[in-house]
Amino acid sequence: MGSRFRGNDGQASIASNGEARMRNFAIIGSGPAGFYTAEALAKSFGETARIDIIDKLPVPYGLIRFGVAPDHQSIKAVSKRYDKVADDPKVRFVGNVAIGEAVSVAELRGLYDAVILATGAPHDRPLGITGEDLPGVVGSAAFVGWYNGHPDFADLDPRLDGANVVVIGNGNVALDVARILSKTRAEFAGSDIVGHAIDALDGSGVRSITFLGRRGPHQIAMTPKELGELGHLAEAAPSVDAGDLPPVADDEALEPGVRKSVAHLRAFANAAPDGTKSKTVTFDFFAKPLAVEGDGRAERILVERTRLDGARAVGTGETYAVPADLVVSCIGYSSPHIDGVPYDEDGGKYRNDRGQIDDGLYCVGWARRGPSGTIGTNRPDGYEVAEQVAAAFPAASGDRPGGDGLDLLLANRGVKSTSFDDWRRIEQAETAAARPDSPREKFVRHHHWLKVLGH
Ligand code: NAP
Repeated sequence: MGSRFRGNDGQASIASNGEARMRNFAIIGSGPAGFYTAEALAKSFGETARIDIIDKLPVPYGLIRFGVAPDHQSIKAVSKRYDKVADDPKVRFVGNVAIGEAVSVAELRGLYDAVILATGAPHDRPLGITGEDLPGVVGSAAFVGWYNGHPDFADLDPRLDGANVVVIGNGNVALDVARILSKTRAEFAGSDIVGHAIDALDGSGVRSITFLGRRGPHQIAMTPKELGELGHLAEAAPSVDAGDLPPVADDEALEPGVRKSVAHLRAFANAAPDGTKSKTVTFDFFAKPLAVEGDGRAERILVERTRLDGARAVGTGETYAVPADLVVSCIGYSSPHIDGVPYDEDGGKYRNDRGQIDDGLYCVGWARRGPSGTIGTNRPDGYEVAEQVAAAFPAASGDRPGGDGLDLLLANRGVKSTSFDDWRRIEQAETAAARPDSPREKFVRHHHWLKVLGH
């Protein structure tokens, strides 16, 4: 008689021959949502779980490595928790395997008992205005990917020779972008910004960075801790027009976090001009982008003044132009379309009911709920989806080929995947290559990673 195992689903998982059924899970994406879901599935299904975290890149961590700002190392430290998940013998990292190229979701559904999409939302949402395809207009996924060493954006070469940058959006990504554009080389000490970006930023001609927010200070999506950092930059001073701020008494009705952010804006508005700093970061509220204009490249952005109708911005008909050699659009992201997976075009995510897309097919994190919330939000999200999977399991068969089947299929297709041990070797090589004031020098090309592994 085989040993008996029980998951949190409470169902004995015993095959007819008395052996414990193995439950094989594939999680697509190794960012926070993927790792928290793996952690939850490992806890829920105990020794009967076999979990493969598949990533198209040879290296793990998704948003933590490629999204979180390089000067926010304390946030990136959460990857240590994911390392513990990867050390669990029930969990495998399978890198360098692109879904839709090396293997399809349909094939994975045949190999695994459940497939969980944790792809995140790596694509920029379009602005939908004239001129957004001009050279000099980039999305935040591309710009952030460039300074964070994502291989897809290593060659972005953003225009940094001009004096004027416009950053569209009033969220934390816009804030990251403006701060990275503002910092001096010395202020990047301790960060893991990639060499090509710090060199380009160090030589940049940028002097003026303007946030365009289509609504007002009370609708700001920048969180207080991050917004406060803008007041402590060596060479850049924030600038807010006091006339844009509602009466102080109106702040009382705000959520505490927004109230704190507005307090920062008030402090910026009241600060005496600092003539010693070479860069200005200006908040242009009630400013809706209409078109990017220029002779073969971005030179200015045409903007319409708005007013609030309730919480909605409506155009006033008044227009003006803001000089812009570089425009970085930070207005949100969408998940990738995947063959055979129903998609919610408005939400930029997969169509799902509390994480379930179909029998044996789930989504989690930004792929499930769209691009919002903190990294920590993905933990309860992952646990909830794991509960959904567990609840569906009494009806599921278990004992699909799982990782063995995937390995066979990849070998037949000549795809060389990477393991977590491979990542450890890459990590060691990146640490060894670090600048004196940096934890690592990220390799930004596939062939650099694969060379470390002798592939
Ligand atoms: P976000 O917080 O949703 O902000 C998006 C901004 O873009 C909003 O100000 C929005 O204005 C504006 N916007 C949207 N569509 C627009 C359009 N067509 N034209 C002009 N403006 C437009 O998104 P995010 O900044 O991409 O951040 C995504 C998530 O990651 C958020 O939860 C964020 O807090 C988090 N994050 C956190 C950190 C951190 O350091 N803690 C860093 C980065 C990101 P409306 O409000 O008018 O829609």
